[in-house]
Amino acid sequence: MSRSDVTIVGAGLSGLACALRLHQSGISVSNLEASDGIGGRVRTDRMDGFLLDRGFQVFLTAYPEARQVLDYADLDFRPFYPGALVRFSGQFHRIGDPWRRPLDGIRSLFSPIGTFQDKVRAGRLRQQVRAGSLEDLFRRPESSTIDALHAAGFSEAMIDRFFRPFIGGVFLDKNLEISSRMFEFVFRMFSLDDTALPSNGMGAIPEQLASQLPEGTVQTNAPVVKVQEGGVTLESGEEIRSRAVVIATEGPETERLLGEKKRSAMRGVTCLYFAFSEPPFSEPILFLDGDGKGPVINLCVPSQVAPSYAPPDMSLISATVLGCSEDADKHLEAAVRSQLAEWFGRAIQDWRHLRTYRIRHALPMQVPPVSEPFSQPVRIHPWLFVCGDYRSVASIQWALVSGRRAADAIIEAFSR
Ligand SMILES: Cc1cc2nc3c(=O)[nH]c(=O)nc-3n(C[C@H](O)[C@H](O)[C@H](O)COP(=O)(O)OP(=O)(O)OC[C@H]3O[C@@H](n4cnc5c(N)ncnc54)[C@H](O)[C@@H]3O)c2cc1C
Repeated sequence: MSRSDVTIVGAGLSGLACALRLHQSGISVSNLEASDGIGGRVRTDRMDGFLLDRGFQVFLTAYPEARQVLDYADLDFRPFYPGALVRFSGQFHRIGDPWRRPLDGIRSLFSPIGTFQDKVRAGRLRQQVRAGSLEDLFRRPESSTIDALHAAGFSEAMIDRFFRPFIGGVFLDKNLEISSRMFEFVFRMFSLDDTALPSNGMGAIPEQLASQLPEGTVQTNAPVVKVQEGGVTLESGEEIRSRAVVIATEGPETERLLGEKKRSAMRGVTCLYFAFSEPPFSEPILFLDGDGKGPVINLCVPSQVAPSYAPPDMSLISATVLGCSEDADKHLEAAVRSQLAEWFGRAIQDWRHLRTYRIRHALPMQVPPVSEPFSQPVRIHPWLFVCGDYRSVASIQWALVSGRRAADAIIEAFSR
């Protein structure tokens, strides 16, 4: 039986952010993680010299909380091209951010990915989502994203060819039922600064947080089965005692630990990685499926963004398929190859399949109403606190915020 001031269940970004804040305030922490590594949904595997993030994901350097808690220089972020290539009707069409790539932006005005008026509406939307504070953004009226896009006057062509593959890929929701607030938040972040990958993989983000904790703070392979006043019980039967407990797990697991009957649904995603000697495209750009035929909704070549994602003279390609396909690996791979052969030609038959990740609990559903992330209660009992992305808006930004808010509530409780 060991003892610290606070036990945190889960060493994803929210748990680690909470642990770091408490440690910096002189409060001792034990952070227990069920799996064999830290980072939760933000982990990177190394395979034959490739860096494989567990599911395609990106970091938006405008995240205000991340700017406070992460050392950007050390993470060595490598930016994507600000825009995308949309595959539609047998061709790629470039959608460039007119504010950062004016010439490409002007060319985009005349692409078949939406009308000229759609591009003007996109400019207006950009202005709206950047206006005011983040608090203001989360106080605005809320609807589903699809309703918000219709209300803003976007054409079906623009919605189907751009917003569905782009925003649908971000939130794993092709129907765009997710809250308009989440869409507006992400659109704001995309417009403010870079979309990027850390040169050592997305897993470098939680590793940086954990590296600032005293050795032994985080214990992996330590699943918690029960939380109770005075501590937690591990699957092994061991009890870890503490004054306070923080549950920093995914929504459904938090509900289980709290003894709630409800199990929140989550969205799943499948990510296939391939290797080849030549990149299919020379720019660090995101590809979107504007035809909507799938199965791939987006594709990127992470090694064109950050060369360290692949060994020298090799390229890493990541293809994202929404949902957790039950197809056997070889059937799914064949369907993906057949779609991508249309995009890039026969060369893709020589791509080597590296690995397929099926992530069942990737993101919370987050249909309206979603709670605004600044004042969600974090204290369940005098001794029990909660944090995690499901509490507000699923993303690295809000996972970090929720961890910090839980820590601040404990610091306040302990100071009384
Ligand atoms: C494929 C994918 C793509 C994404 N893309 C992006 C993106 O591009 N940009 C972005 O900002 N966000 C993205 N996200 C979302 C972002 O990764 C999450 O919002 C964030 O990492 C959630 O952190 P968390 O700490 O709340 O939860 P988690 O990361 O899920 O951490 C919870 C931890 O608790 C542990 N745990 C669970 N049960 C127990 C138990 N009983 N005992 C002990 N430990 C337990 C889990 O193993 C896990 O490590 C993506 C997520 C996925 C999966």
